[in-house]
Amino acid sequence: MRSDIKIVDVRAVRLTVPERAPPPARRPSWGGAEVANPMSRYPRLKRHRSLWYARWGPVGCKVTAEDGTWGLGLTTHGRPVAAVIDDHFAPHLVGEPCLATERCWDLMARMARQYGATGLAAYALSAVDLALWDLKGKLLGQPVYALLGGPAHDDLFCYATGNDTDWYVELGFAAAKLACPYGPADGARGLDANERLVAQAREVLGPDRELMLDCWMAFDVEYTVRLAERLRPYRLKWIEDYLLPEDLDGFAAVRQRLPWQTLAAGEHWQLPEAFAFAAGHRLVDLLQPDIQWCGGLTAAQKIVHAAEAAGLQTILHGGSNTPYGQHLTYASPSMPWIEVSGFKTAPGVPLTELGRLPGTPLPVNGRLRPSDAPGFGLEIEEAWLEPFFA
Ligand SMILES: [Mg+2]
Repeated sequence: MRSDIKIVDVRAVRLTVPERAPPPARRPSWGGAEVANPMSRYPRLKRHRSLWYARWGPVGCKVTAEDGTWGLGLTTHGRPVAAVIDDHFAPHLVGEPCLATERCWDLMARMARQYGATGLAAYALSAVDLALWDLKGKLLGQPVYALLGGPAHDDLFCYATGNDTDWYVELGFAAAKLACPYGPADGARGLDANERLVAQAREVLGPDRELMLDCWMAFDVEYTVRLAERLRPYRLKWIEDYLLPEDLDGFAAVRQRLPWQTLAAGEHWQLPEAFAFAAGHRLVDLLQPDIQWCGGLTAAQKIVHAAEAAGLQTILHGGSNTPYGQHLTYASPSMPWIEVSGFKTAPGVPLTELGRLPGTPLPVNGRLRPSDAPGFGLEIEEAWLEPFFA
């Protein structure tokens, strides 16, 4: 292969993976339960996040090289993200060297500043960047983790997110994270209910497994402090994502008022700058970028290195759910754990039915190793892809 092999096509795509019906569950999953969120103050929208989610769905990016080799990156927020990829990024990337991931990332990240490189543009950037890394691995015949410096761990410690804690223990996870059901809109009774949920989970986990709490942008500074103080006896390893992501002064205030509590955030921050600020000002102890949202692998690697230089660890949001996060975590000494979330299966249904993309290794007894296949090792047939805008 020539080292200057060029990109000939960049295209937003829809992916349709053949589905099969899961086996019967032992009981329904917790997934329909209420989760505190930024809209909880509006009774009409409070009961479930799906009541107000944008309905754009998933979107992919396929990047093709001169020799016909192609790579695939996946993200969410379909139509507007597909427009950024096809209308803006694609024409400027055709003719660029396939292996030049830093250069292509910089081109896109700078180009998008005119209308804002965070938000939906960062999702588009993520999909293209992940496709370029997949392509680079395929062209070089190497798994992406090998291109990032090789394995930094023997295997990856996985923690489970969701409120079926007993099931996660049965599956062999040694750490679990709850979704917090109630927030400021639910007053003192909500505080009591939150405490009951955490107490029950601690009981199920016992003293030797770790417990965390996800607050999904639902709180303000006062509520975060009150709840954390109530929950102190349950020894949470961390609480995360408790404020609206732009409220950086609020993060500083929580840090000051809860010096004893390990704090985590980042799934709703994008591009390295916000993370560099958070690390530099010690707003949190742990950074949690999402590799499919923050600007892709190139952005996530910059974030991991900035955090590491500041003495902080990074644990990707949803990191194990796709091979993308698995490869970066496997290659990064300062990424100690990886998250398993988005359980579409109910208790009793084996993890093989999780509905992950074909080629995505699954946790066994709470640990996993990424695929050794070239690129990210996705086993996606080209026939499953079609142009997003037909
Ligand atoms: Mg979270």
